[in-house]
Amino acid sequence: MDFSLGKEVEDFRLVVQDFLKPWIVETDGVEGFAGKAVEPDLQRGMGDHGWLSLESEMSMDWNMKMFVFGDEASRRGFHLSSVATTMMVGFTLSQVANEEQKARWLPGINAGQIRIALGYSEPQGGSDVAGARVRSSFDGEAWAINGQKQWTTSAQHADYIWLLTRSQPESRRHGGLTVFMVPTSTPGITVTPIYTMAGERTNAVFFDNVRVPDENRVGEVDQGWKVLMAALTYEHGGGNVPGRSLTGWISRILDHGANFARARGDEVADDPWVTEKLGEIAIDAELAKLFVYRTSWAGAHIEKADVLGAMAKLHARESLVRASDKMLQMAGLAGVANAGCGDLGPDQGVASALQFEYIDAPTGTVVGGSVEIQKSIIAERGLGLPKTRNQGPRKPEPAQATLERQAG
Ligand SMILES: Cc1cc2nc3c(=O)[nH]c(=O)nc-3n(C[C@H](O)[C@H](O)[C@H](O)COP(=O)(O)OP(=O)(O)OC[C@H]3O[C@@H](n4cnc5c(N)ncnc54)[C@H](O)[C@@H]3O)c2cc1C
Repeated sequence: MDFSLGKEVEDFRLVVQDFLKPWIVETDGVEGFAGKAVEPDLQRGMGDHGWLSLESEMSMDWNMKMFVFGDEASRRGFHLSSVATTMMVGFTLSQVANEEQKARWLPGINAGQIRIALGYSEPQGGSDVAGARVRSSFDGEAWAINGQKQWTTSAQHADYIWLLTRSQPESRRHGGLTVFMVPTSTPGITVTPIYTMAGERTNAVFFDNVRVPDENRVGEVDQGWKVLMAALTYEHGGGNVPGRSLTGWISRILDHGANFARARGDEVADDPWVTEKLGEIAIDAELAKLFVYRTSWAGAHIEKADVLGAMAKLHARESLVRASDKMLQMAGLAGVANAGCGDLGPDQGVASALQFEYIDAPTGTVVGGSVEIQKSIIAERGLGLPKTRNQGPRKPEPAQATLERQAG
């Protein structure tokens, strides 16, 4: 079995390293992404290189190149949410949109000129996607949309929100949902920022009688769940979406941990506890990579790999939390000190990075389907175990039966 990626893909890695350079900033000796505000430029640059081509999906060569792109980008601290969400919607549109819609939107996505945010989650819950309450109703001329979405990442610079709505108010769960591509320039939309504890911006988006033409509806009226099923496969890790790779983040923590240990010399680097923890993280990083290879191979040769994708995502996200926890313990006081506390030593750059990674890692256990939801997918679809969701609340036992049991 040959696990090497081959010369063409490895050469591509060098091209990506060059491409990313203009967007890298260095702080205290640590490389990081210049920031969300420049993500639209980067997305256009990817489009110019032909890396956002929706036609290439499912080819093993493209999958591996996009893995390498994500690996290199995340290793340098790039959070590329807009690239990832736009591509997820792009792949979905190429499956479910009508020909006129494909002609209208796909060329702009391929060119990196259209950015799309995901409007699934609402204030009352994100795991229960089918419980959407944002209301859409057709008045004969256009659809009117009212309600609130929550955690709509990248909405501040998106051109469209891929919006899940409830078109049948009396319907429950999977029935009565309809999906739209809503231009963010439409009157009645308000985007307000929400920041994660690591300082990443996401948004709440309010829809106040937002008028959307029927030509922006994707899929049949009230049949939005079918559209969502296609889209959620990408959300849950099946398919190699550019910008989504978490393997680079694990490697980044490993790089920072090893650099910190080296800078501290014998005091830290020779400690067997440190060696053991670095070894464990290196194994997790390698496994994460193999999970992605397997998902990519299955996606290219067999089917949309939703169960394998969930496994890859679950392992990588839990590894990130474990790795950042171990490395913060290793950094000790340096990992909890703040910049501005005086002279904190030559390794303060990596120690601050380890602190950031510790605060940032838990976000990954929630975003795009929580780890519990990934476990349910593996259990139900992969292992054929009974459904863990959608069973409704447990019914209280009848009082009479309880009394009889107590009595005898
Ligand atoms: C930084 C960030 C960015 C995000 N970006 C987007 C975005 O762009 N677009 C978007 O639509 N959403 C986005 N989300 C929302 C994200 O998808 C939801 O937060 C996630 O799906 C969980 O939903 P919730 O936060 O409402 O928690 P809940 O769904 O209320 O869940 C709470 C807890 O209960 C657990 N739980 C819920 N249901 C079950 C179940 N059936 N079985 C077992 N455990 C369960 C969950 O795992 C979780 O631990 C983002 C979230 C974050 C933090």
